[in-house]
Amino acid sequence: MKVAFLGLGNMGLPMALNLIKAGHQVRGFDLVQTQLDAFKVAGGIPMNSASEAALDADVIISMLPASRHVEALYLGESGLLATTNPKALLIDCSTISPKVSQSVAAAAKAKGFAMIDAPVSGGTAGAQAGTLTFMVGGDAADVDRARPLLEQMGKNIFHAGPSGSGQTVKVCNNMLLGIQMLGTSEALRLGIANGMDPKVLSDIMSKSSGRNWALELYNPCPGVMENVPSSKGYAGGFGVDLMLKDLGLATENASDLDASIPLGELSRKLYEAHSKAGNGQLDFSSVFNLKAD
Ligand code: NAD
Repeated sequence: MKVAFLGLGNMGLPMALNLIKAGHQVRGFDLVQTQLDAFKVAGGIPMNSASEAALDADVIISMLPASRHVEALYLGESGLLATTNPKALLIDCSTISPKVSQSVAAAAKAKGFAMIDAPVSGGTAGAQAGTLTFMVGGDAADVDRARPLLEQMGKNIFHAGPSGSGQTVKVCNNMLLGIQMLGTSEALRLGIANGMDPKVLSDIMSKSSGRNWALELYNPCPGVMENVPSSKGYAGGFGVDLMLKDLGLATENASDLDASIPLGELSRKLYEAHSKAGNGQLDFSSVFNLKAD
């Protein structure tokens, strides 16, 4: 297949490389020259603009930072919906607002394009290994059309529902993850203040009703677990600022819908304080060290 890959950053580049390995002809574009250079070294075809990369493509995949980048890429007079042949299937893998995702997909549909939202979970390690989870929103026939390609970049492909549903699942999941990490940190801190060994406390809670993913697989307390960011100075992993972005999407979404998410809102404020204290680039489990007033 002729694939256009737009946005060759931390996630997009390894995802595009897996498609090249699978034998597709992949044309790519990114605003950053070093990303285009790395893409070329791995066998990709770098192009001078998004519309040049998209010309004649069977599938166009975007992996961009945020809602405004996705709107700018697809909409407007020089956007891809105006400059590309509607035979191309559009797959947006960026994590963006469900509302924006729905409106871009509706604009695409009005121009005769099929478009799905397919945000991912699994981080850069999952992108490299081709083991991402895709949460997909769109018409079933379009999801089926995309599935073979998504399976070359991921292990679990879930059809969540109509347009925007993939983004809704992503927002709900990451809000829960952010809350879980704060709750787990708080429980461990309280135990430690009581003189408990955090490893003993973690082992017991992992077999009790407080068990959860952060506690069992991504423990935020240094020294409890090997090979997790907390035992490596909170380097690597999923950054505080990326969690903050996702909690911002959750609070914006909740406010649009008048949904009540007090813990999501409080979590966003706590990660924001942690980021402002200079920890934005550390893994989000470093919120273990936040001393809230
Ligand atoms: P990134 O900032 O590393 O990459 C984004 C790339 O898009 C950059 O290289 C940027 O130059 C490029 N770009 C911006 N506008 C462009 C345009 N108009 N045309 C072409 N390229 C353009 O971000 P990332 O970590 O790769 O994340 C991408 C998306 O995936 C985000 O929405 C993020 O929330 C989501 N995500 C990230 C992770 C993670 O662990 N990094 C995990 C899951 C989901």
